[in-house]
Amino acid sequence: MKDSITLRDPDTGSTFADEMRLIPRWSVALAVLAFVSVQYLCWIVLPAERHHPPAPLSVRIYFALSGSALAALYVLMVGYVTRDAPRRAMSLRFWIAICLIMPGGIGSVLYFLLRQPIISRCPACGTRTQSDFHFCPQCAFQVSACCGQCYRSVSATDQFCVHCGHDLAADQTPARLRAFLG
Ligand SMILES: [Zn+2]
Ligand SMILES: [Zn+2]
Repeated sequence: MKDSITLRDPDTGSTFADEMRLIPRWSVALAVLAFVSVQYLCWIVLPAERHHPPAPLSVRIYFALSGSALAALYVLMVGYVTRDAPRRAMSLRFWIAICLIMPGGIGSVLYFLLRQPIISRCPACGTRTQSDFHFCPQCAFQVSACCGQCYRSVSATDQFCVHCGHDLAADQTPARLRAFLG
């Protein structure tokens, strides 16, 4: 059961946990591998090739941990982009290339700044609609729940409008559509 006051992305209506579930398994496995590889590099490979006295242990732990965490996060980001880009009708190849080429995770920052709204289709006529649409632009089919008084988005399970306090049970959807269409 979802809590009705969970923080939601105003754009997609999905929670942080929903977004995390989007990350594919292969990407989680690769992230674990990346984490372990960087640890291996820091503790086994690098000390063997060192010709000067070692840095203090705390400094080495700090660099090993932050290096592995960054590597793992980077792999998870790429995994997320492979699932997120298609549902926004964005070029997957282009954005994966950007994420891989740009150094230091700048590619994924750019992705989150520039990503498009999620695309879905009108159940009645198949026209492409965005997640913030209330009505289909081609056939006026109501694609998301909205308040009958202020026409802002509400959750289908809400009793009252969170914006204006209108009693949503008083709305009859067909009457509401007729009123809206004039
Ligand atoms: Zn439609
Ligand atoms: Zn309202």
